[in-house]
Amino acid sequence: MKQTYKRILLKLSGESLMGEKQYGIDENRVREYAEQIKDIAAMGIEIGIVIGGGNIFRGLSGAAKGVDRVKGDQMGMLATVINSLALSSALDTLGQKARVFTAINMFPIGEYYSKWKAIEAMKNGEIAIISGGTGNPFFTTDTGSALRGVEIEADVMLKGTRVDGIYTADPEKHPDAVKFDEITYDEIYNRGLKVMDLTATTLCKENNLPIIVFDMDTVGNLKKVLSGENIGTLVHN
Ligand code: UDP
Repeated sequence: MKQTYKRILLKLSGESLMGEKQYGIDENRVREYAEQIKDIAAMGIEIGIVIGGGNIFRGLSGAAKGVDRVKGDQMGMLATVINSLALSSALDTLGQKARVFTAINMFPIGEYYSKWKAIEAMKNGEIAIISGGTGNPFFTTDTGSALRGVEIEADVMLKGTRVDGIYTADPEKHPDAVKFDEITYDEIYNRGLKVMDLTATTLCKENNLPIIVFDMDTVGNLKKVLSGENIGTLVHN
């Protein structure tokens, strides 16, 4: 069934921003993402974006090396702000307007996030890049994007990954794993699939926010998903 989405929340992984690099931000990958995003903005879709920070810092890895967990998570949240600034700059270069919001007040780096300001930006044709995760430690940007997706009343959350959907097992380790075209949240729990953390999955389930998991690193895929092509895996109740 061809589904049309008017407003989306796109979750980009921080790790994917590394592209070919081992750490940090690959300018080519950021430009590719910006071009794909500009393409779908031209379709009239309202776009909110949440980016991870794992290409720069992860609270859990920091804690394993002796960094206080809360401070480490704060470092991770700041990493998402850095990534968001990089994406907004790439969008600006392409002539696509974007506004960076931050979960924690750090004006003038970004505007302090509120649902209404983000919606206003999207209605003006600007991309709302919502950074800083949830603003709280012990959460992930998957949970941040589920939260923002529900708040901004997105029709769907698009989770861009380097895998082209959800499989019965990790396809990078099990070549015989089978891909789902669609799956329910409950089946994700029951099968113990590692799609997102459980907090994020539950927030989507309880608020009826469908998720499409797809391969964002293949240029053109974002537009295909939004044109109703059957790629990726749809998660619903
Ligand atoms: N983080 C946090 N609270 C949030 C979102 C993120 O504390 O609401 C921190 C956490 O330390 C996490 C890091 O930011 O490890 C980077 O986010 P994430 O790991 O979700 O990025 P990704 O793995 O998608 O690159």
